[in-house]
Amino acid sequence: MRTLAEIIRQMGMTDPRLLAAVAATPREIFVPPRSAGRAQLDEPIPIGHGQPTSQPSLVAQMIDALRLTGTETVLEIGTGYGYQTALLAHLAHRVHSVERHPDLAAHARTNLAAAGVTNVEVQVADGTAGLPAHAPFDAVVVSAAAPTVPGPLAGQLAEGGRLVMPISGDIADIVTLYTKRQGRLVRVRPLTPAQFVPLVGKYAGTADL
Ligand code: SAH
Repeated sequence: MRTLAEIIRQMGMTDPRLLAAVAATPREIFVPPRSAGRAQLDEPIPIGHGQPTSQPSLVAQMIDALRLTGTETVLEIGTGYGYQTALLAHLAHRVHSVERHPDLAAHARTNLAAAGVTNVEVQVADGTAGLPAHAPFDAVVVSAAAPTVPGPLAGQLAEGGRLVMPISGDIADIVTLYTKRQGRLVRVRPLTPAQFVPLVGKYAGTADL
């Protein structure tokens, strides 16, 4: 059976740091125990509250677009069970992750500790408001879909930073890469169509900036 890192490399993601992070992160730890046998498949897995943890290749594609070098402070919205959080933690300096469901956040903290990940802080809050106390962020990744980027997240992105988020559409969500230039959020390019759960929060329906 191909490893997740092999699957991701064969899909065209060749960054050695990304592939090393995938290889070093046991996905079994980041899924419910009853699904551990499926953790090495490139498939979404239910984690409760009607939420799935995304398939690893999609997570990798979103993280790849952030071009992390190891120095960045990252904001993640939608911690889930913490798999993406763990990959981000391998690739950046510090990760601030926000999850709206307290029990999912608790699972994520447990799972991250079990995987030996320490440069992460998981908060229970409405992530659409971002985390003003820790801004600006060099990179922002949102794991749930909304029609536009919530204004606070655009505002908390550093100049030249990168933001990846699924933008909801009629047929599919379009995972989209943005950056910030001269204080404004700029759309760089669509990455891939995908299906995400809706982003639920105060600023989930508001216009850009
Ligand atoms: N990154 C996770 C994705 C989990 S699914 C993974 O791949 O494993 C999306 C998550 O976003 C769910 O856990 C859901 O509860 C969370 N979510 C939705 N809206 C949110 C909001 N406004 N603030 C924080 N978390 C939110």
